[in-house]
Amino acid sequence: MFKIENATGGYGKTTIIRNVSIEVKEGEIVALLGRNGVGKSTLMRYATNLIPPMSGSVEIDGKAAPNSPAKQARMGLGYVPQGRFVFPRMTVTENIAVAAASNGHDPKKAVAEALEDFPLLQPKAGDLAGGLSGGQQQVLALARALAIVPKILLLDEPTEGVQPSIIDEMAGILKRINKDRGIAILVAEQNLDFCLSVSQRAYVMEKGAIRMETDRDSLLADKALQQELLGV
Ligand code: ATP
Ligand code: MG
Repeated sequence: MFKIENATGGYGKTTIIRNVSIEVKEGEIVALLGRNGVGKSTLMRYATNLIPPMSGSVEIDGKAAPNSPAKQARMGLGYVPQGRFVFPRMTVTENIAVAAASNGHDPKKAVAEALEDFPLLQPKAGDLAGGLSGGQQQVLALARALAIVPKILLLDEPTEGVQPSIIDEMAGILKRINKDRGIAILVAEQNLDFCLSVSQRAYVMEKGAIRMETDRDSLLADKALQQELLGV
């Protein structure tokens, strides 16, 4: 349902990712693992056309991905960049409403659904997003991405700087939207426990390339690889 093939790209003349091919099938939650600086975010930026491709292609639902974020959203691609993305001077409600409206969905309905999905946002609905804690902003960024009604969701380190109780809540939400709404998810992470709790399959990146593809059980059994990924 979502495919990146032979992706090569980087910044200016510097190549960061080389020949990367990955796939997220219908109904899957797939993790993109790898230590700092291996190119996880660069691959996400490649997939969302934020950096110009040197070569390779991206497919959503069997069709070539368009090159503008608005058109990608219409095709069902949701993306939460690393470091979250919310409008700090808008309220929580406005943030969700704007995201929904930008993709042709009813803002009121989207806000009601988001507050039901994310109870921790309820008491904050009228607050400015910039005043929320880091974890709350990350949840709001996820709520915004869901408000476009995606088929495939790309999440770049959603647990970074987020407190454990919110991480658990986030894991629950991802599993639920995957199961109930059939949203496929690709999640770049350094938090191995989180990945093991949500994803069935993983790609491990190293130096801008895919080193291996593995599944949850193999990863759970491979203590050496876990240690390596955790950098301990
Ligand atoms: P992290 O886990 O720290 O988020 P990552 O796997 O997402 O790491 P990237 O952010 O994709 O890694 O970085 C891959 C390489 O690209 C690094 O060497 C980084 O210094 C470089 N890089 C990242 N962003 C830029 C940029 N905007 N301009 C130039 N080089 C960049
Ligand atoms: Mg990154």
